[in-house]
Amino acid sequence: MKNRWSDAEARQYCDHYAPRWGEALALRVYTSRLIGAEADLVMHGGGNTSVKLARENLLGDRIDALCVKGSGWDLDSIEPEGFPALDLAWLRKLRKLEALSDEEMVNQLRTHLFDASAPNPSVETLLHAFLPHAFIDHTHADAILALTNQPDGTELIRNALGDRVLVVPYVMPGFRLAKLAAEIFEAKPDAEGMVLLKHGLFTFAADARTSYERTVDCVDRAESFLRSRLRGRSASSSRATEPNAASAKMAQIGPALRGLLASPSGNPDQPHRRVILEHRATPEILGLLDAPQCASLAARGPLTPDHVIRTKSHHLFIAQPALNDADALRRQLADDIASFRTQYDSYFAEQVSSKGVTRSKIDPDPRVLLIPGVGIVCAGKTRKDAAIAADIAEHTLRIKAAAEAIGRYEPLGDAELFDMEYWSLEQAKLGKEVEKPLSRQVALVTGAGGAIGVATCIELARAGAHVVLTDVDDEALERARGKVSRIAGGSSCAAVKMDVTDEASVAAGFDRACAIFGGVDIVVA
Ligand SMILES: [Zn+2]
Repeated sequence: MKNRWSDAEARQYCDHYAPRWGEALALRVYTSRLIGAEADLVMHGGGNTSVKLARENLLGDRIDALCVKGSGWDLDSIEPEGFPALDLAWLRKLRKLEALSDEEMVNQLRTHLFDASAPNPSVETLLHAFLPHAFIDHTHADAILALTNQPDGTELIRNALGDRVLVVPYVMPGFRLAKLAAEIFEAKPDAEGMVLLKHGLFTFAADARTSYERTVDCVDRAESFLRSRLRGRSASSSRATEPNAASAKMAQIGPALRGLLASPSGNPDQPHRRVILEHRATPEILGLLDAPQCASLAARGPLTPDHVIRTKSHHLFIAQPALNDADALRRQLADDIASFRTQYDSYFAEQVSSKGVTRSKIDPDPRVLLIPGVGIVCAGKTRKDAAIAADIAEHTLRIKAAAEAIGRYEPLGDAELFDMEYWSLEQAKLGKEVEKPLSRQVALVTGAGGAIGVATCIELARAGAHVVLTDVDDEALERARGKVSRIAGGSSCAAVKMDVTDEASVAAGFDRACAIFGGVDIVVA
């Protein structure tokens, strides 16, 4: 793990942010972004950081405040506004309570903000509040998760990190975890960090740099420990498919897969709730997918419970796909997807009945498919969602394989994962925007570089479609893509060079569209 701290950069952050926000928050933004820049530490809204400082109220009184990452912000791009400030003395008083429901916790956090319009503070706010340190950094570091998701995780963490890092048993984030972590810390107040089993790492210090460097140091030690245990043990198969061949396969099976993953919408105008697909196939991924333990690992839970809302608990592994027989492959995919749905339904039924709760069931469809010879294929309502799932799935594949190679990958069980998957505070992270008329549809437009073509693409994008712009003219195509991307976002449109007078070029263009989004629903020519 590389230490990215630079005195010169830290000074730049202070010059830029300190005049308005103060030096502590300026440095908090800086080291949060250093953490966010490392996908092996946090991904897509995961992890959180905080700083304790004094804030002045309207009457000029100085009040102790906790500024903690707000929901909706990613650490790699966070700004000072992404750290809502709360009344620290009040938060600490809450520790006297025996219990605090999640709903009341959220209410207490919102009613003790300095700014009524601030984003919701992290669900881990009370843990930050109950610890005494000015700076606290929380990550879901891959190397830590490879060690903690093991039957002897506590021992492995102690061996790798020594006794300056505490071990906290798994408890779901919230009031109970915050109290437990504070008690464990107070029994050893010279600790520099704590590993939350099957969840992640916290480090803390009086200043931004030390807290950040403690994260780097812990992760670095966990990585070295993992490497030493892995020596000579390969988690991957060496006779894997070539990435180019895998992309060609994806173009062939993408449309069938999208069809199978669509579900009835109940709307006669648009009978299918479709998904957009994201495909990943690097030599590493293809090697890991060909390894014999991949099937069993796919059916075990995520690296950290937070991932469950993006990828679901289980990933769908397609064993020995019939890649050279389109009909057989389609039947195989249909059967495997159907049995995934059945299993999800029974997992849901078992959990609600054993917990005696009522919840409204999320769709039973897989988010992550692992297909040897093809790659990781992720499904989402937008390409952005599918890409988030794919980023997480790539890390998950790698870390599960490493964990299995040094012992046995053993994540949380269904009961804990269900609590996380159906926790209202987690579901809130996914947002509830109303879908547009052409959401989840892929439209391919020919002559997209021309005036009518680009205007058509813009209208389709405004209506929510993912758009494939095609044209023979490279430059016009790129200009048009720029215009559409300003409306749709870069991930929802793609430019593909295509000559409509050449059959081979058209076929290649459609293949490319299928490899990018999984298929095509609308053609405007
Ligand atoms: Zn966490």
